[in-house]
Amino acid sequence: MVKLAASLRDWLAFLESEGKLKTISKEVNLKFEMPALIKKLDGKSAVKFKQPKGYDIPVVSGLAYDRDLFAKALDTNKGGIAQKISEYQKQPLPCRVVPKEDAPVMENININDVDLLKFPIPIHHLKDAGQYITAGLLICKDPETGKRNVSIHRLQIFSKNEMGVLILPRHLWHCYMKAEKKNQPLDVAIVIGVDPILLLASQTIVPLGVDELEIANALKGGEQRLVKCQTVDLEVPAEAEIVLEGKLLPKVRKVEGPFGEFPKYYGPASEKPVIEITAICHRDNPIYHTILPATKEHLLLGGLAREATLYEMIKQTVPTVKDVHLTFGGVCRYHAVISIDKKHEGEAKNAMFAAFASMQEIKHVVVVDTDVDIFDMEEVEWAIATRCQMAQDSMLVSGSLGSKLDPSTKDGISDKMGIDATCPLDAPPEQYETIKIPGYDEIDLANYIDKE
Ligand code: MN
Repeated sequence: MVKLAASLRDWLAFLESEGKLKTISKEVNLKFEMPALIKKLDGKSAVKFKQPKGYDIPVVSGLAYDRDLFAKALDTNKGGIAQKISEYQKQPLPCRVVPKEDAPVMENININDVDLLKFPIPIHHLKDAGQYITAGLLICKDPETGKRNVSIHRLQIFSKNEMGVLILPRHLWHCYMKAEKKNQPLDVAIVIGVDPILLLASQTIVPLGVDELEIANALKGGEQRLVKCQTVDLEVPAEAEIVLEGKLLPKVRKVEGPFGEFPKYYGPASEKPVIEITAICHRDNPIYHTILPATKEHLLLGGLAREATLYEMIKQTVPTVKDVHLTFGGVCRYHAVISIDKKHEGEAKNAMFAAFASMQEIKHVVVVDTDVDIFDMEEVEWAIATRCQMAQDSMLVSGSLGSKLDPSTKDGISDKMGIDATCPLDAPPEQYETIKIPGYDEIDLANYIDKE
């Protein structure tokens, strides 16, 4: 059994052993050509580029592109991912800090002459403002409490030691504001090249003060080792490929963007905070990871973590919730499908309220009975087609806060709609009796079709 959880290298070895890693030895241009190839393989295979043109560092992408792979990484099954994450994000486990001699990421330390441009950082989409780091875990500490925080941000390369960063008003923003108020820089470390569990843990929706690295450690059964940074007061995963140490500068803003984002539209250019790099550490023969925006790898990372929180929220009001699904068509943010084992009329609508309240990005919600496979959108559509009458089974609210990246909103002000596609409890049993063929499940086709 491959050690799935420990590092990017272990994960790549696992993918290779399963035939799920394609290798490209041909020289490939970082600008558009590599992203085009990643997109062609999206949802089919992970990919390793051995020769990015002009660089001697390989690039990997599409590390976990479907639910089965994430389930493998988490040692669960496809239907148990949300439940597993929601269970473990409630019990963070402190990480062991090892000396730098035991930390592969400290095999090469560069403090005096930092150069971001030596890494093969792609230009992904037509109107992107430049090279972007897309798979960097940004680690910081709350300047008041000292609690660690981890999140992923798009990072535009400005020069060999400067990057622009998009910070939405979540935890990093709070930490940065606390430092900026005192006119102090905020220490940060950007970690590139980690395993899927670390990536997933960085996306969990937990309160400020809960350390996402400790959630990763809990999910890994205590195997997440950290090492101290060289120029900033932070700890980073010891098995990472690359660590960029630096400072978020107070009172400095520069134009960042536009950038092709997860909803498949561009996020606009505007003035953003700036990170100055103070050190670069990396393993021998480092591997660079890029996430192509809007691919299944990208959407699932955000989606699975959100499903865990969604599941938890709905469970509080409808305890019989079975599973939740943020669909690819809804960019794993805007569309939720929820299955409940309905015991009381009205529970479907309560599940919708919980879903809308759980996160502002959720826009359309469909609630179905447990006989519908919510991961099969054809079945979900069938439930909508045959189990609801919209005048009574839909709910429409205008003027709520949605996603600013949804171009149909007015600066994020959005309508919300819920559809109750569950069968009424008082319907006569024959009204919703589905057609069945006796013996269907027992029949094995291979025993019937002529052998060639
Ligand atoms: Mn956080």
